[in-house]
Amino acid sequence: MGLVGGIEAGGTKFVCAVGTSSEASAARTEFLTTTPDETIGRAVEFLERQAARLGRLIAVGIASFGPIDLDPASPSFGHITTTPKPGWQNVDLAGVVRRSLNVPVAFDTDVNAAALGERRWGAAQGLDTFLYLTVGTGIGGGGMVAGKLMHGALHPEMGHMRIPHNPQRDPFPGSCPFHGDCWEGLASGTAIQARWGTRGEDLPSDHAAWPLEARYLALGISNLICALSPERIVLGGGVMRQAQLLPLIRQGTLELLNGYIRVSRILEHIEDYLVPAQLGRDAGVLGAIALALEKEASG
Ligand code: ZN
Repeated sequence: MGLVGGIEAGGTKFVCAVGTSSEASAARTEFLTTTPDETIGRAVEFLERQAARLGRLIAVGIASFGPIDLDPASPSFGHITTTPKPGWQNVDLAGVVRRSLNVPVAFDTDVNAAALGERRWGAAQGLDTFLYLTVGTGIGGGGMVAGKLMHGALHPEMGHMRIPHNPQRDPFPGSCPFHGDCWEGLASGTAIQARWGTRGEDLPSDHAAWPLEARYLALGISNLICALSPERIVLGGGVMRQAQLLPLIRQGTLELLNGYIRVSRILEHIEDYLVPAQLGRDAGVLGAIALALEKEASG
């Protein structure tokens, strides 16, 4: 049973774990993201220590904040590219880990990795075309089409889609530094806090914030359903811990689709179609482990 490593590289913290195909997480640690040298160094050191204890590492998966370069033909493949996070522009994250540990490295976005983790252990088992969305500090989306993680010119940046915004109803201009009122700018946890002056988790569950939030999430989700035809959409992230949201999002999505898409998995089984993530706060690092297991299986 080969040991693999997982690194969830987040802008705020790194989470590292090792696992095998039968035990998803045999050991785990997390620490704050500081400078690239120090932070990547700590991740490498943790994985080396676990390998000395549990056996040789056969692959490492990295689930990274972005934007990142996923084009194997590009000279900056494996790099974090244009992030606004100071010190982290053009950092060769995958390369440093590969050279330090001398193992094959699988590298992808945090949301694609979380999608893969949900498919292996969570809410997307048995599906080949599905999405994973996280609604937290930002909004991010990844997933699979026909059994392959979604890549391309860059990688999906679903949080920066444009959705209708009526400034009479919601005068908040949006919080995205690039676009103002893109989806993330209107509906992320950052936007909720900026619009209402209070963190979402401190707002009561019957606050006017939530129907508006559900409306924005349903708008983006109905666009994604029309564009990508997923078999299921898995919703995670801190904002989705508000239990009152998901029923409102399901209802809003059905209203927006308005009977046009006639498939029973949406029309009749919306509660199995828009579903909560099952891997919780560890979705990212478990996704990184899943990436490594996939890499190992494919050679
Ligand atoms: Zn944006």
